[in-house]
Amino acid sequence: QASEQAVLDAVPDGLLVGGGWRPAASGRTFDVHDPATGAVIRTVADGGVEDGAAALDAAVEAGPAWARTAPRVRGEVLRRAFDLLQQRRDDVALLMTLEMGKPLAESQAEVTYGGEFLRWFSEEAVRVAGRYGTNPEGTGRMTVSQHPVGPCYLITPWNFPLAMATRKIAPALTAGCTAVVKPAELTPLTTLYVAELLREAGLPDGVLNVVTTSTAGDVSGPVIADPRLRKLSFTGSTPVGKQLLKQAADGVLRTSMELGGNAPFLVFEDADLDAAVAGAMLAKFRNVGQACTAANRFLVHERVAEEFAARVTAEVRGFPVGRGTEEGVRIGPLIDDRAVRKAEDLVGDAVGRGAEVLTGGARVEREGTFYAGTVVTGVRPGSEILRQEIFGPVLSISTFGDEDEAVALANDTEYGLVSYAFTRDADRGQRLVDRLETGMMGLNVGVISNAGAPFGGVKQSGIGREGGLEGIHEYLSTKYTLTPDP
Ligand code: ADP
Repeated sequence: QASEQAVLDAVPDGLLVGGGWRPAASGRTFDVHDPATGAVIRTVADGGVEDGAAALDAAVEAGPAWARTAPRVRGEVLRRAFDLLQQRRDDVALLMTLEMGKPLAESQAEVTYGGEFLRWFSEEAVRVAGRYGTNPEGTGRMTVSQHPVGPCYLITPWNFPLAMATRKIAPALTAGCTAVVKPAELTPLTTLYVAELLREAGLPDGVLNVVTTSTAGDVSGPVIADPRLRKLSFTGSTPVGKQLLKQAADGVLRTSMELGGNAPFLVFEDADLDAAVAGAMLAKFRNVGQACTAANRFLVHERVAEEFAARVTAEVRGFPVGRGTEEGVRIGPLIDDRAVRKAEDLVGDAVGRGAEVLTGGARVEREGTFYAGTVVTGVRPGSEILRQEIFGPVLSISTFGDEDEAVALANDTEYGLVSYAFTRDADRGQRLVDRLETGMMGLNVGVISNAGAPFGGVKQSGIGREGGLEGIHEYLSTKYTLTPDP
């Protein structure tokens, strides 16, 4: 196991533009912190508007040659990057824990999950196919073919520093697109590391460019407005996503938007409670609750609510709290103080409206930004915690009386990313799949993400899908050709 300092020192600290690392044109830098201690762990280039423009220039210039590169060759670059990532998985995992705070075991799991996008799309590279047929009039042949969209701008969030980057970069590059990626300012290091890894794997200059910046809006505006850009892919909050959609409208850009969620977690009276409790721990406490797929609202049948609450509380009470590098930690720090204050406010509001705290319910007094693993029950309609994404380790329980009420409560949100339901009744399971307004569904399971799955939401949770067969089509455009019969 390499030392923390050695791993941090191995991260490039510049902008990747046209195949070379360089400082920001302004010479500015910004600091990256360890949320468990607040300490500055690295300083990276603070890209400005001209750096964004230079990165897009490089992506545009590299575009035609990369689009012509054989799919097999494109796939093999990604596959080599996957192999390199496996060789250095301990370093990448430690890096994520240092810049983002999640427990090391979860960072290891993210190397597996995030790395898999490189392998999955390396295999998809050679399978992009079209259609061929006769026109309805019977006078000609129709060909439908797929082509790279063109230069892409990829904006990623801080909560899964590796997976959110590879989930966009891998399909974009596999499809034959070039890209500029702008990682979250809170966690830029993993993206910088992966970009260097892709270079080592043989990625040609300019195919992937990285701009780190502390002024995301200022740098992104002109890139999105540039007529040479063809595609914007964003993962982050719904308000920023809406703003970006408006900006993208001017250029009629292709967009993929992975936005917020407000996942219901339904526990029916016939559920296997062992499975429901185990699923709840994963759906709620993975990433210390900082996932758009995190279960936000536990809706439990009134007959089993008390038992469910007691059992999840017993689990959560035992969760070790600490820096993610410490063995066995379940509750690492939240990303920043704003996140801790949000948890405080949401729990405070719920309690003010009559909810009861069964465990936790407060900030942990120590250095860093920690909030205790928490269970609140008896959460009343109208509480803010039912409306907003908690993004923290707070398990909020409300009750329902029957299936219709459960479905109505579950759908009572502008979001529709993922829903979880625990029931032993297979017919009910099918009804729920039909009736829940959701892009994804975990039926008797608490984690559903994998590289082969089309990840994405309905309603205000977003547009498009990442991963799976669908993932590469976000970076392909369809061309139809008609040829008359001779
Ligand atoms: P969070 O609140 O979880 O940090 P954000 O939506 O603010 O989520 O951030 C997700 C990503 O969007 C980050 O990379 C961030 O830098 C970027 N971002 C935030 N605001 C803007 C903006 N106005 N234009 C472009 N990117 C932005």
